[in-house]
Order: sequence, then C-alpha cells, then structure tokens
Amino acid sequence: MTTAHLVDNLIERQLQQWPLARDNYAALEHVALRAVTLSGSEVILQHNPARRRSSAARVDAASLAERPCFLCRENQPDEQEHIAWRETYKIQINPYPIFPRHLTIASLSHTPQLLFPPERLNHLLDLAEELPEWVLFYNGPRAGASAPDHMHFQAACAGYMPLPEQALNPALWPEQALLESTDDGFIGFTRQLGRPLFLIRCERKELAGFYLARLQLAMRMALDHEPEPMQNLLCWQTGEYTNVAVLPRVKHRPDCFGEETGQMLLSPGAVDMAGLWCIARQTDFDALTAERIQSLYDELCPDNAAIAAIVDKFYQT
Ligand SMILES: [Zn+2]
Repeated sequence: MTTAHLVDNLIERQLQQWPLARDNYAALEHVALRAVTLSGSEVILQHNPARRRSSAARVDAASLAERPCFLCRENQPDEQEHIAWRETYKIQINPYPIFPRHLTIASLSHTPQLLFPPERLNHLLDLAEELPEWVLFYNGPRAGASAPDHMHFQAACAGYMPLPEQALNPALWPEQALLESTDDGFIGFTRQLGRPLFLIRCERKELAGFYLARLQLAMRMALDHEPEPMQNLLCWQTGEYTNVAVLPRVKHRPDCFGEETGQMLLSPGAVDMAGLWCIARQTDFDALTAERIQSLYDELCPDNAAIAAIVDKFYQT
C-alpha cells in the first residue's frame, strides 16, 4: 500500500475512534473566513479559536524544558496513532486542525527542529512525492514552530493555502526573475505576491534538491543565521514537477505580539506566509486589514538589500 493510501486509512480510522479529533475537525467546518487583497495577491483570514494554544505557545528554552513535549509519544493521548515513515518519522493527524485534512510528521525521537543534517531536505522532497494530494511545510525553530525542540514537518490537503497555486503563475517567472534554469526546471525570486519568495520548480527531484541545498547555504551565510536560516518552506508535487517555496524570515514574531490590549496574538508560520492567516482571537480577526498584513510581511521578511545578498551568495555556492 502506498504512503498516501496508508494516510487516507489513518485519517478515516482516527476520525471514527478519537472523539477529540472528530469534534475539532467538525468544528473547523464552521470557522469564519474572510478574504483580503494585498497589492499582489489574495490572502484568506481564518478565525480559529482552537489554535490559541499554538499561537500563544511559549517557545523560550526555559518554558520548553518545563512543559511535556506534545510531539513525544509518552505525552500524547492514547487514541493518537501513527504511521512510521522510514523508521525516522511518525505521520499523525493533527488534532487541532487548520485544514480539513492536516498531518503532523514528527521525528520518532525528541530532537531539535532543524533542517540540518541536510538529508532532512531530501526527506521533505520525498514526502511531497509520496503524498501528491498534499502540501508539505516546515516552520523554522524561530519562524513559527510551536515545538522548536522536536523536529517536525506538517502537511495540508492541497487547495487550502493560496500561495502554492499563486506561485505557479507563469507571469511571475519571466527570464529576469530566474536565478538559474535548465531544461529540467528553475529557481527564481519574486516579491510580486507581497512578500519575498524563492520558488524552485523542477521536473527532476534531484535538481530541486540541489537548488534547495544551495539556497539554504546562501541564506545562512547572507542572513548570518545559525544554525540555519530563519524560514518557512512549502513543498508540493504537481504532475511531474517538484515545487518548493522558500520564504526567508528575519523575525519570529511581530512587535505587536501579545495578549494585552493593543497587541495581537499572531505567531506567523508557513501557513500565514502562504496566505492563510490563522487567527485565534475574534478581535484580531476583525482588526486585520490588507495594509496591516502587508506591514506584517514587511516586518517579518528580509528587505531588498538582504535578498540581494542571498542571491549573491547563491551564485558563489
Ligand atoms: Zn518531543
């Protein structure tokens, strides 16, 4: 049986047998949605109170050390099942979903959220290939991850985040937007969607992996981030093509982050960067405008000078 079939069966079984998951997925059908248009693209706002625990998660080292890790088996509910993948990861349903089908793909062992060792980049590409109806994503440990101490990817059923479809618009990728291209694919950069976006789109997965590894190195050097660049990644397959969106970051949470009056409970990760803002509080959901979202993207992402430095380093690698 393929990984995709095993996942379909897992979801069906868990929604039958696990009341918490079933209730949370049922509740998701009634969340409020609102669309706003940035200068370059449409963004969807989702009011999802159940995600408060994730948005408000304390991610400093002391708080992490004190709390039971929710991705470790011994702290998970008895009902939570998993499928082992290459004896390295466990594929599970996320019991606090943003999407009608939402997976967490966590390391079997408690090990920090990092894309290095570099074979983890290949794990991401391989998972996307084995799960063709899904968009895989990764939140850097200081770019939206609520468990930066436990390595994990996530996956969303295709069609819910706006960016994967928007990013493939050929109009975004004229010759001058490309860093490098071959007959098999390209790596390019654009700001036309309102935030800096590197896109890798290749017929050969190996070429996608090669571009991705070089870009990782270039970002790490240019942004001077250790041990890895602050970023959100999305990876998905369309037909024969492997697509990877790399959204570089310079800030984990915006200055307005907080639960006090005048603050906003927003801790953006890959999903928000991909144009689906998942908002726990009604007041924040009502207050966000296209202008505000644009200013949040501007605050969280590198400016033109930093992008120029990344591109420079890319050509040197
Ligand atoms: Zn853990």
